Amino acid sequence: MEKVKCLIIGSGPAGYTAAIYAARAGLKPLMYTGPQPGGQLMITNDVDNYPGYPDGRMGPEMMEDFRRQAERFETDIRNEMITKVDFSGPLHKVWTEGGQEIHASSVIIATGASAKWLGIPGEDRLQNKGVSACAVCDGFFFRKKEVAIVGGGDTAAEESTYLAKICSTVHLMVRRNEMRASKIMQERVMNTPNLIVHWNTETEEVLGDEEVTGVRIRNNKTGEQTTLPVSAFFVAIGHHPNTGIFSEWLRFDETGYILTTPGTTYTNIEGVFACGDAQDKVYRQAVTAAGTGCMAALDAERFLVAKGL
Ligand code: FAD
Ligand code: NAP
Repeated sequence: MEKVKCLIIGSGPAGYTAAIYAARAGLKPLMYTGPQPGGQLMITNDVDNYPGYPDGRMGPEMMEDFRRQAERFETDIRNEMITKVDFSGPLHKVWTEGGQEIHASSVIIATGASAKWLGIPGEDRLQNKGVSACAVCDGFFFRKKEVAIVGGGDTAAEESTYLAKICSTVHLMVRRNEMRASKIMQERVMNTPNLIVHWNTETEEVLGDEEVTGVRIRNNKTGEQTTLPVSAFFVAIGHHPNTGIFSEWLRFDETGYILTTPGTTYTNIEGVFACGDAQDKVYRQAVTAAGTGCMAALDAERFLVAKGL
């Protein structure tokens, strides 16, 4: 068994930022990187919207920068996953996949979220070559081009109207004859002239060798197949937060995102803080994740001081 003041679970922008602040505050943080060291940005190319990188940065290189900065202040970084937690006592117990038991006075959860994918041919192979789950991140690379997006919820409505502002034509594929999105968002979709909604439509394949050149779609009522000549394919069918291991202890919204006290990173358990995409289904950006990572470390530090720990 090992005892630490501050344990950070997750190594995306939120986790690394929390580590930088916690380490500089002398908390000697211990970080577990989990199944995707560096987080979601490890699977993207250009990150153009993170302040401080005027020429943009490749996602993996940016996360290496984050890691080096966290290491400069002596964060103890371990490449393992946390598989079990027990938040029943004042000392929070956590177990790694290798069976190591950690007792932490404070825990910062930064386990992020994962995009849901369709699982169709071409989707995986053409990721970062025109296939994306983040229109706000990647739409810019396809400005003035014809693009497609799939989904019927608020995210699809929001992202398709966002794309319509920068792309020439946007094809929105909805698998039913109605959208799940809120009325106001649906109205925005319907009132956008260069946004074409394809009802009862499923995407069967993303086409292209080196980059996306089109998508093959099928009307699930008539069986009719069509190919759309698009340069990008966005998937907006929802995300799932990586919060399952905390289910016994924390409060969540109806979709599994950790609930925090507004304006803070406090969860319902004293000494347990949540930041980044694991508690944010609205913004889901690297900079907002980093911002809340900073908040979590400051909240943890103040909590430890107040408790005399
Ligand atoms: P994540 O980056 O999701 O990291 C979660 C971390 O938690 C990972 O390290 C994972 O290994 C770890 N973890 C999970 N479970 C466990 C566990 N049980 N034990 C230990 N560790 C665990 N945002 C932008 O601002 N600009 C962009 O250009 C941009 N492009 C994107 C492109 C793509 C393809 C994707 C998918 C996302 C993009 N985003 C972009 C969004 C951005 O990546 C996320 O908002 C951000 O990474 C969230 O940071 P996070 O630290 O909360 O979580
Ligand atoms: P969501 O509400 O779960 O919607 C997912 C959509 O994707 C649904 O329309 C679903 O179709 C469709 N879908 C799922 N699997 C599919 C598949 N295999 N093929 C084709 N379509 C598929 O997810 P979300 O849109 O990301 O929203 C998540 C939450 O965030 C919601 O509560 C939402 O209100 C909220 N949100 C709010 C805003 C805002 O208010 N501005 C913006 C974004 C998100 P079916 O409808 O047929 O199931």
